[in-house]
Amino acid sequence: MNKNVQTFIGCDAEFDEAAAVIFGAPFDGTTSFRPGTRFGPSAIRAESFGIETYSPYCDRDLCEVKVFDGGDLDLPFGNTERVLKMIEEYAEKVILSKKRFIMLGGEHLVTLGAMRAVARAYPDVHVVHFDAHTDLRDEYIGEELSHSTVMKQVWRILGDGRLHQFGIRSGEKYEFEFAKTHTNLHKFDLEGFSETVERLKGKPVYFSLDLDVLDPSAFPGTGTPEAGGVSFKELMDALLLLNKLDIVACDINELSPHYDQSGISTAAACKITREIILQML
Ligand code: MN
Ligand code: MN
Repeated sequence: MNKNVQTFIGCDAEFDEAAAVIFGAPFDGTTSFRPGTRFGPSAIRAESFGIETYSPYCDRDLCEVKVFDGGDLDLPFGNTERVLKMIEEYAEKVILSKKRFIMLGGEHLVTLGAMRAVARAYPDVHVVHFDAHTDLRDEYIGEELSHSTVMKQVWRILGDGRLHQFGIRSGEKYEFEFAKTHTNLHKFDLEGFSETVERLKGKPVYFSLDLDVLDPSAFPGTGTPEAGGVSFKELMDALLLLNKLDIVACDINELSPHYDQSGISTAAACKITREIILQML
C-alpha cells in the first residue's frame, strides 16, 4: 500500500534518495493587479496527471530521475518577511542535503527567499530570468518587497552582470535605464539566449521563470498578462538548452489558475515543469 498523497506526476521518490526536491511557495501577498497565484502549486500538482511522464522533446522520462515532492510550505499571509524567511530556510535545507530544487510559486517575490539561500551556497551564481516584466522597481506603493521589485532585490545580492533577463516588454523607463548598465536585459523575446548559455557554461545558475513571459494567448492564467509574449514553442526551444547549464535551483511562478477557465495555462505550466526537471537532472 502507498499513501494517497498527491505529488507532481512521476515525482514520488523519498527525500534521501532524491536528486531534486519540488516544493510549493503559495504566496500572493504583494500581487498588485489580480491575486490568485497562491493556487498555482496545487493546480500544477493536480493537473500534472493530465500529462505524460515521458518527454518526446528530450527523449527522457520522469520515471528515470529521482524527485521528492515536499508539498507546499505553510506560509503566513500578510507577513512578507516571514514568508521569505521560511522559503529561505527550506531552500537552505535542500541545498545542504546536496540536492537541487524546483520551487513552484506563488507570485514572483518568492524568488528572493530562495535566492538568499542559493547565493550563500553558490557565491558565484548567475540568474537567468524569463519574464514579461523588468521587476527592477525600487519600490511599489511604498513597499520594497514586491513581485515588481524582486529582481532589483536579487541584483542587490548578485551585483552587476550576473542577472540575465529575457522576454522583457514592460516596466518603467528608469528600470530599463538601470538595466543598461547593471543587468543583461534582452527585450521582447528570447533571442540571444543560446549565446548566454555558452557564456554561463560551467557556472552555477539559478533559473527564474515568470510564466507571463509567454504570450497571453498561450498563457492567460496569470495576474499581470502582457501582450506580445513568446510562443510556447519558443519557450520550449529555450528550455531545451538548459541541460548545457548547471542549474542548481529554479522557480516557476505566476500561474494564477482561476483566471483561465479553459485550464490551458495550468496544462502548459505542468509540461514546462516536467521539461525543466528533466533538463536539470
Ligand atoms: Mn516577474
Ligand atoms: Mn511578469
